[in-house]
Amino acid sequence: MSNLKHVAIVGATGAVGVEMLRCLEQRAFPVGELTLLASARSAGKTMKFKGQDITIKELTADAFTGVDIALFSAGGGISKEFAPHATAAGAIVVDNSSAFRMDDQVPLVVPEINAGDLKNLPKNIVANPNCTTAITLMALYPLHQAFGVKRVIAASYQAVSGTGAQAIEELEAQTREWARSERKWDDVQVANEFVKVYPHQIAFNALPHVDSFLDDGYTKEEMKMENEGRKIMHHPDFRASVTCVRVPVFRAHSVAVNAEFERPISLEAAREVLSAAPGLDVIDDPSLKQYPLALNVAGKDNCAVGRLRIDCALDNGLAFWVAGDQLLKGAALNAVQIAECL
Ligand code: NAP
Repeated sequence: MSNLKHVAIVGATGAVGVEMLRCLEQRAFPVGELTLLASARSAGKTMKFKGQDITIKELTADAFTGVDIALFSAGGGISKEFAPHATAAGAIVVDNSSAFRMDDQVPLVVPEINAGDLKNLPKNIVANPNCTTAITLMALYPLHQAFGVKRVIAASYQAVSGTGAQAIEELEAQTREWARSERKWDDVQVANEFVKVYPHQIAFNALPHVDSFLDDGYTKEEMKMENEGRKIMHHPDFRASVTCVRVPVFRAHSVAVNAEFERPISLEAAREVLSAAPGLDVIDDPSLKQYPLALNVAGKDNCAVGRLRIDCALDNGLAFWVAGDQLLKGAALNAVQIAECL
């Protein structure tokens, strides 16, 4: 490969794809040629990169000729079908979907944690982790290195942009509809025609339902923390009991975590470890009302951790609140960081 890369973005028009384009530009990734791919609906439209209009092409099996790195972000089905075409054409695929995350032959990477796993790419595919997992691990992994994490109990507060562009539109439409009607706070139900993406209204609500339910009552999303956490941290005994909640926030996920460690942990030691962690800001001064907020981390590369306290119900436990822009660290930024490592 030369220094300048031919990069393709599959799903360029999506919530994540748009951010991938922005990350490539902002981080001055050495792009020699850029191929933007999406569905037939978007083919022929243009997107801007470094001030130039690039025409979007329809994703087809032969769209990857000459591509060095293909960033996939168009859903698991598309990845399963088209990633093999990309690798057959000689590209390395960085896949943002869940299609390959638990494949033994595919490294699952958060560069700040396990960039070393990129040395071995038997399928020429790298998987990008689940967004809630990636954001949580940005704080949990440094603590694990210092104190040895045994298990976590966590609840997520997940933004609608985590579901994609249609969900962003849905929260906008529901909120506008209520505001337009000039009804009061005790009359916030919107008409069914505004409820399409989620099973219930998301505006003014909290849905304890992210992804589909498994037989044991957890959702697929909830089990990603344990399954993907084990793989990324190289920690097969890690346990996680998670409740994932969708909230009417446009951008950035927050996670309340209660973590139990092998070794004793103090607040001072935890703060020291977290302050030195890459890609993470410690914002933790409750007396000044300073703690991580979704609104403040939205659009930022770094995740933020705060509300640190010794857990009163766990042995060697720490409770904390971690927030991060899931379109960035949970998706586009992490994918571009992986591409940089490659
Ligand atoms: P999205 O906003 O719905 O975007 C979907 C993208 O896929 C669009 O560019 C769409 O193109 C394209 N697409 C759909 N059907 C296609 C087809 N048949 N052929 C080619 N392209 C097609 O979704 P998103 O939120 O960006 O998520 C994309 C992927 O990233 C998913 O696998 C998701 O699980 C994963 N992910 C998302 C996040 C997040 O925060 N959103 C975080 C981590 C991982 P058109 O515009 O032409 O329809």
